[in-house]
Amino acid sequence: MAKVKEKSCVNCKRIYVGDSCPNCGHNMTTEGFKGKMYLFNAKDSEIGNKLGAESEGEFAIKTK
Ligand SMILES: [Zn+2]
Repeated sequence: MAKVKEKSCVNCKRIYVGDSCPNCGHNMTTEGFKGKMYLFNAKDSEIGNKLGAESEGEFAIKTK
């Protein structure tokens, strides 16, 4: 069984598995991200606003 690799959106740092980012719709990703955080209140948090997060989910703290 192949392990599904998590990747991070280069635009908004959302971590996801699939063809395009569920947050911003971009499809450019990087596997070279460091750290993860889970945003519960994406729209109400400072970090969420900074990232332009529209929905809750996992985001990378740092991307290459
Ligand atoms: Zn994105």
